Amino acid sequence: MLMKTKIVATIGPASRSADILKGMMENGLSLIRINSAHADIKDVGEITKLVRSLDRNVGVMIDLKGPELRTGEFNGGMLRIVSGTNYVMGKDLVLNNMNALSAVQVGDKILMSDGEVSFEVVKTDPFTIEALNDGVLRDRSRVNIPGRFIELGTITDRDRSFIKEGISQGVDFFALSFVQKSDNVDELRDFVMDSGGDQYIISKIETKSGLDNIEDIVRSSDGIMVARGDLGVELPLKEVVLAQKRIIKIAHEDGDFTIVATQVLESMVNNSSPTRAEISDITNAIIDNADAIMLSEESAIGKYPVQAVRTLKEVSDYVEERVSFDSSYYFKGNTIAYSVARAAKILSDDIKSDGIVALTHTGSTVRMISSLRPKAMVYAATVSDNLARKLNIYFGVMPMHMEGDAEKLTFPEVMDHIVRSGQFADGSKLVITSGDPYFTFGGTNDVKVAVVGKFIGRGYSFGDSINGTATYSGNGDILVVEDGKIPDKNFKAFIFTVDPKPSVIGSLNGKTIVTKTRLVRKILEGEHIYIDGNTGIILTSSQR
Ligand code: PGA
Ligand code: MN
Repeated sequence: MLMKTKIVATIGPASRSADILKGMMENGLSLIRINSAHADIKDVGEITKLVRSLDRNVGVMIDLKGPELRTGEFNGGMLRIVSGTNYVMGKDLVLNNMNALSAVQVGDKILMSDGEVSFEVVKTDPFTIEALNDGVLRDRSRVNIPGRFIELGTITDRDRSFIKEGISQGVDFFALSFVQKSDNVDELRDFVMDSGGDQYIISKIETKSGLDNIEDIVRSSDGIMVARGDLGVELPLKEVVLAQKRIIKIAHEDGDFTIVATQVLESMVNNSSPTRAEISDITNAIIDNADAIMLSEESAIGKYPVQAVRTLKEVSDYVEERVSFDSSYYFKGNTIAYSVARAAKILSDDIKSDGIVALTHTGSTVRMISSLRPKAMVYAATVSDNLARKLNIYFGVMPMHMEGDAEKLTFPEVMDHIVRSGQFADGSKLVITSGDPYFTFGGTNDVKVAVVGKFIGRGYSFGDSINGTATYSGNGDILVVEDGKIPDKNFKAFIFTVDPKPSVIGSLNGKTIVTKTRLVRKILEGEHIYIDGNTGIILTSSQR
């Protein structure tokens, strides 16, 4: 079963190998996250090449540290903190930005390692903090000073080099830490554009001010990450769950994709199975309408990266089948494409289509259709691998690669690609959106229903859809009756090319029947055909 919820995994020593990555990809991985806090510039190209060599649909995201406060590195990679001990800043403990401490006063709390170790400021000269509990700090542990607005800027020089390297290696997303206002996002996007990139930008919401400005931030961003690690340190923990729901709702209304991150399967860093609370959290994130769920340490340094991804897949598969997803998405721009997207969703849900194929040049139709949460999968048909990887973060979207000149593809060629993709059985009903004059970039203005297979004819049908071999007399599943007489009732279906008598129809109660059939060519003896019970359409079938 294709899963709709997307999985993001942070790469690290535990997962930086073709085997582990393959294992994660087989279980539905959509996007790799490079955490620039724990990576070198040269990792960007190496990881991107490795990921590309394994799966053309899996994207790469660089998570930019932004103005995050972090500790420095320690002798041996870690520092054991003992409750009640005083630490002198700049001597026992170093921050990446020591100026940040100028806004801090005696009595303030300083939290480190995602809030696991807390300190209180006891003296500012020399700047001294006292540990309030025991704990361990690893290199570059996160530092939070809740309640103090610390102006650190948007992106650092180190971020700028990661952005430039990311653009030249062709990564697909940049995530920005500690977004506090939409200006931060705009500044990053300006820099990315000026550097020749067109990556999607994900704003990490992990401060009180980010939460307060969420509406504006959503409008500037492509996607939103609910960064619960820092958010849970900056806000009282009890507020984080409702904040998550609010962030997802506001982002979704605007068509931004959302990623729920941090401590998703934390116990699986060390254990091969998750806790009940973690499964509950994942289930609720899916019900909240998240597009994607992210693994951090689980996949970066954990013992069970593949099992963690598989756990996410198992929960998603189970929940998606049983929960219906509502959408409060409303698009405020071009109403033609949006209305076509809505029509596609309604059409697809009504006829229980096997998929929505959206021919797309910029991705906007695909984003809209996904945001409307149709029941069927959305196939993003594009000639661009770059676009395919970006769209693969949206809930229920599956890339479908087209070849050829996007501006010249004709509808039959498009159908040919769809059929040759091998993803749909004969008789599958597809809802297809496209745009005239050119299918992939004409601007979406068309929606139609197509059935997979070659059209042979059509009549009025009763009964279920049937796949089988046609015959005029002897062996086969489907009897073609040219004279209104039936030699034998032991066939699965009957196609009448002349009208049968009512008594003949009556005697075939429960079988599939097609009457008043008009054919564009003769059905061949022994030919595999498909009868669509809903429409009476008869198709050749490649079923063997
Ligand atoms: P981080 O972001 O892992 O870069 O800190 C995620 C979070 O804060 O939840
Ligand atoms: Mn964070």
